Amino acid sequence: MRATSYEGPYRIAVKDKPDPRIEHPQDAILRVTCAGICGSDLHLLHGRVPDTRIGSTFGHEIVGVVEEVGPEVTAVSRGDRLVVPFNISCGACYFCSRGLTACCENTNPSSDVACGVYGYSHTTGGYDGGQAEYVRVPFADVDPMKLPDGLSDLQAVPLADAYPTGYQGAEMCGLEGGETVVVFGAGPVGLYAMRSAWLLGAGRVIAVDKVGYRLDFARRWAGAEAIDFEDADVITAIKDLTDGRGADATIEAVGCEAAGSPMQRAIGVYVKGVAGSATALNWCFHATKKGGTVSVLGVFGPPMALVDFGTAMNKCQTIRTGQCSVKRYLPQLLEHVQAGRMPVEELITHRYPLEEASRAYHTFAQKEDGCVKAVLLPGTGTVH
Ligand SMILES: [Zn+2]
Ligand SMILES: [Zn+2]
Repeated sequence: MRATSYEGPYRIAVKDKPDPRIEHPQDAILRVTCAGICGSDLHLLHGRVPDTRIGSTFGHEIVGVVEEVGPEVTAVSRGDRLVVPFNISCGACYFCSRGLTACCENTNPSSDVACGVYGYSHTTGGYDGGQAEYVRVPFADVDPMKLPDGLSDLQAVPLADAYPTGYQGAEMCGLEGGETVVVFGAGPVGLYAMRSAWLLGAGRVIAVDKVGYRLDFARRWAGAEAIDFEDADVITAIKDLTDGRGADATIEAVGCEAAGSPMQRAIGVYVKGVAGSATALNWCFHATKKGGTVSVLGVFGPPMALVDFGTAMNKCQTIRTGQCSVKRYLPQLLEHVQAGRMPVEELITHRYPLEEASRAYHTFAQKEDGCVKAVLLPGTGTVH
């Protein structure tokens, strides 16, 4: 089959690889029809995630059709269209049985930190990703959701990660109604978080970014006020908008490659000393009011320095964070999509055949051509 192949920092190719096969009785093999490129895939591409091996297949936002199932699979069968959460979870361990599928103990047992994730380095188990013609789906009875007929691939693929992750970020703000929520980062996850914040009762949503077309998108699509942090002192601007107190809640939707603080970028990104730059996280602490909540969705690598944790502590803030346990959100989020309250597919500005993966990554990473979200379409290059 053809599949993406990591060729070292900043280089990705599409190569011939062996077809995946059933390795365990609970596996299924999926023919991938649509695979998203996630902002966190850029951390892999840029060499920020440890143990990302040359030749790896990326991709953890997967929609496809079941090609083959193992002898113990009963919930799905050949021909079913599925969306697959990025977390690989067993469904039966201590954490899975409590709904925390992102904390599954069985799919990446050598790590105490992360469960198995498709195409996300050997630190999350070394599973092959779905930016390929075919992918092996372990625990096929547990994680995937069958797609109703009326739902297109482009409506389904955000359900694998970006939309539930954004939704969880808004949910972790604990909104009761009328709050001011600031979202750092107007990429796909941040945009889904903004729109989810409205659904959960926010009274005001403010987007912070430096990419003009994405701030425009946030205004138009997510009804947010927008702050360009290159035009303004971002903390002062947020205080000015909130009677000097700061936001009720902030959402960090950036992660380890944040721009903003030259020192953090120098040490964190260029020297790779702390696996990234926590500028947006620090801004969250400063932009959140006393007693407010900081909700962190961004992906960070190994331990970071230069985080203003003392500020958060002194301000008695609640900090919530976590990989999204996608599965538990799927039924309710599917409802929002089907009812038209969350037109998830509108963020997908760019579609590419699998063979053009390198161009797709480049356009998305460089924020060229108004790109908000890019997907790869293996196979015929058309979507359901
Ligand atoms: Zn992701
Ligand atoms: Zn589990």
